[in-house]
Order: sequence, then C-alpha cells, then structure tokens
Amino acid sequence: MKLYPLFADLSQRAVLVVGGGAVAERKIEALLAAQAVVTVNAVELTGRLQRWVAQGRIAQRREAFRDDWLDPVWLVVAATSDRAVNRQVAAAAGRRRVFVNVVDDAALSSFHVPAVIDRAPLTIAISSGGDAPMLARLLRERLESLLDHSLGALAALAAKLRKRIRVRFADMAARRAFYESLFAGPVATLLRQGRPDEALAAAEYALAAAEYALAAAPAGSAGSVALVGAGPGDPGLLTLRALRALNEADVILHDRLVSAEVLDLARRDAERIEVGKQAGNHHTTQDGIHALMLEHARAGRRVVRLKGGDPFVFGRGGEELEFLRAHKIPYEVVPGITAAVACAAYAGIALTHRDHAQSVRFVTAHCQASRDTLDWTALAQERQTLAVYMGVAGLAELQQRLIEHGRAAATPFALIENGSRAEQRVVTGTLANLAERAAVHAVRSPALLILGEVAALATSLAWFGSPPLGASVHAIRVPASRQADLADAPARAGLLAAIHRA
Ligand code: SAH
Repeated sequence: MKLYPLFADLSQRAVLVVGGGAVAERKIEALLAAQAVVTVNAVELTGRLQRWVAQGRIAQRREAFRDDWLDPVWLVVAATSDRAVNRQVAAAAGRRRVFVNVVDDAALSSFHVPAVIDRAPLTIAISSGGDAPMLARLLRERLESLLDHSLGALAALAAKLRKRIRVRFADMAARRAFYESLFAGPVATLLRQGRPDEALAAAEYALAAAEYALAAAPAGSAGSVALVGAGPGDPGLLTLRALRALNEADVILHDRLVSAEVLDLARRDAERIEVGKQAGNHHTTQDGIHALMLEHARAGRRVVRLKGGDPFVFGRGGEELEFLRAHKIPYEVVPGITAAVACAAYAGIALTHRDHAQSVRFVTAHCQASRDTLDWTALAQERQTLAVYMGVAGLAELQQRLIEHGRAAATPFALIENGSRAEQRVVTGTLANLAERAAVHAVRSPALLILGEVAALATSLAWFGSPPLGASVHAIRVPASRQADLADAPARAGLLAAIHRA
C-alpha cells in the first residue's frame, strides 16, 4: 500500500478516541500534545485517563458508540479490543468521510500513525504502510540515537532567520549552501553546547557577512575538536553523543586503548590516525598530538580526539583543552565511562557499597615518580575503595607500601584485565598475595586494580564473562590464546580438567 504522507494541524480540533485502555491512553497523550480537543468513548478508563477527565483535559462519553458522534470531529481513533466495535467505527467514519485509525488494523484504517522522532518543531515520521511496524520502530530507535536533541532548537533558529535568508539568497543553490553551513558548522555546535544566544549571534553574523559581502569565513568552514571518551571497550558503553561525534568526524585521532569495535562505528570515510603513545610512530609525544589536532582543525576539519574511558580521567584531556584554548580552536568534551566505573560494573563490584566503603579514590601509579608522590597513609585507610589505573609492573611496590602504611594484608582485591571486553578476566585475592597472583595469572595491560572491602563482591556478584579466578581455584585458567604460555602439557591438561569440573 502506498500512503500519502501528511502532517495534520489538530490544534483546537475535535478528535474522538473509542476505547479507554493503555493503547487509547497513548494515542490521547499524543493528540493532547498536538493540542487536539479529545473526547474518549469508554466506560472504563486507565487511571491517567480518569485523572485527565477529572481535570477537564478530555471529555468522556460512556454510552455505546453512535455514528453521529463523528459529525463534529476531524479524526477518529478506534482503540478497543472489540473487533466488532472497531469495525463499526471504521464503517461509520467511511460513510462520513472522517479519517479513521484502527489500532493494529491497517485494512480498517484510512490513516496510519507513524513512528515519530520528536525534535519539535522538527518531526520525523516513519511508516511502513502497516507492513512492517517493527522495522519502522527499529529505524526510529536508530534515528533517535543519531539525532541530537538540540536539532529542535536549530530548526527554531532557522525559522527566525528564514525570511532574511530567502531575501539574501535568491539563488536556490546559494541558499542551500548557506543553510548547510548553518546546520553543520559552529551554530549547530553552540546549540549543542547549550549556548543559544551565541548560536543566534553566530548565525546572524554569518548572514550579515553574506549580506554585506564581508570577507568573513563562511559559517561552516571553521574546524573544531571534540574530545570524546570512548569508554572501556564495549561499544554499547559509548554515549549517544560520542556516537554522533564519530558519525560527523572528518578525522579521528585515537589512542591505542580504543577498541576496534568502537572505531568501526565511525563514519566510513573518516581518516583514522592512531596516536597511542606506544604505537611506535612519530606522533607519539603529547606535542605531536597537539600539532595534529591543530593542523586538522585549522584545515577546517571536524576532529575527534578519541580517548579510552573518560578524557579527563588520567587521559591528559585537560592539557589538550588548554592547548586548544590557547590556539583559539573551538572544542567540546564528551565524557566517557571511565575504566574504574566500567570494570567495577562488569565485575559485580559496587564501588561504594554502603556496608563496606564510604569513598572511592581514582589513583594512578603508572611510574615510579607518581608512586613516590602518593599519600600512602591516606590510601591505606579502611572502608575506602581504591581504583588504581596502572601498569601491572607496579603492583609489588603498591602491595608493600599499603601494608607498611597499615592496610590489612587480608584486604580483598580484584584485578580486572580487559574490562567490559569479550576477553575480560578478573583475578581476585587479598593484598597479601596481590603481586604474586597477578604474576601467576600473567595479568597484562590494560588492567585495573580495585582494592578494598568491596572487592570481595567480585566473587559473589560476578555476572559478566568467565567467573573470577579466585584464590581457592588451584588451576591457572587462561584464555586459549595464551595457553601456549603454559610451560608443559600436563599443566594444561590439569587446567582443562579444572575448567570442566567448574
Ligand atoms: N582515560 C582512561 C584511563 C587512561 S589510563 C579512562 O578513563 O579509563 C590507562 C589505564 O586505564 C590502563 O593502564 C588501565 O589501568 C585502565 N584501563 C583502561 N581501559 C581498561 C579496560 N578496558 N580494562 C581494564 N583497565 C582499563
């Protein structure tokens, strides 16, 4: 069936809804949002519908449906579970030439209600002509995640300037080019950043520049940098905003830690540059990264600086912003789920479970210098969770210093390697055997240490990936890819036997 798409102005117009259940309630809610004058025809109403009747927001007819009720209405919706009633309403509507929608019955309907993405005044409606409503819904979900909520504000801003833009750009192609620069450039960015006044000023400036033929840069030409947190690896943990930034990027400067699955979500033709400090290329220094950001932004590109976890948690995001500010490059920051938060969640460790901890500290102990300047006395306090971002190399020293400063040797820990990824491993134990257990299980980077009373929860609340490698398990369990690391075949056989027993 080929339908004619239509957006109806129902403001102050009468609409009848037959039926008073949950479906009717949903339809009525949407109709009220469009300022329709709604009458509901049903004896029994949902709690909300009853409230709306009591508040005078909708009228109610309790008698059985009558054809002549359709005379004053513009539309009618049949949302009862009684097919005979639905049929009667549809037939009456047909005779009176009133558009009717029968819920879940395309054949009886003369209009369909689309799946909607609401960015008022912008509305996107999707219909499958009744053939595949689930497909329409799926599409709706996708678009919902792609389209920023500031799009509505952008449409409203365009409405404000529309007349002037039309006068200034009589030529259709030029007008379109101007709109494109408006929608893709700094004006849209400012709206996303919650700065509507500046957005309007920027749009007006761009228009004035065009009106007076000023030699101003077109509104879309300025490059920018988005500092984006990619989360710990599982692409499901990206924010919608991060996904949108990846979709818009011309260039992506990413760390080594960013997972391939996340990079796969970026625009196909975006240039991807790995700037991981261990990547072995010549952009390995922080200065090199700064220079790259500057070069691409100045060339008018939308740069995404993509970092593992959150850009501001041990990610040098602060320095990058200072650099961008100093060079007057517009920027925005999209937070990400930091490793401590993700690893804790994926290991079942409630970081501040009220029975066990009153605070959590994010600590880094990457190098000797950082370890020497830590306040070990504070770190060794009880009822506190430490989330330690570090290379595995420093564990022995960490263990020793914490015990020296009074942390109980029996304090539980969980080491989470590749948190949230398919290869995730969790090794548990106590502070007394931290370094030893990390060595036994050959824990490698990226790994995060959670130390404190709450770490014991990793054993009882685990839910993701393979179960934690606790001290009580004698076998060394390693992924297939690392089984070659094991010295001899008997050990491997014992390991497999242990896995089968588990
Ligand atoms: N900005 C990042 C941290 C960068 S420092 C964030 O917010 O997460 C790098 C350290 O983060 C690694 O050495 C490791 O300790 C930790 N890390 C990052 N991703 C991890 C992951 N998926 N699993 C375990 N640890 C991770």
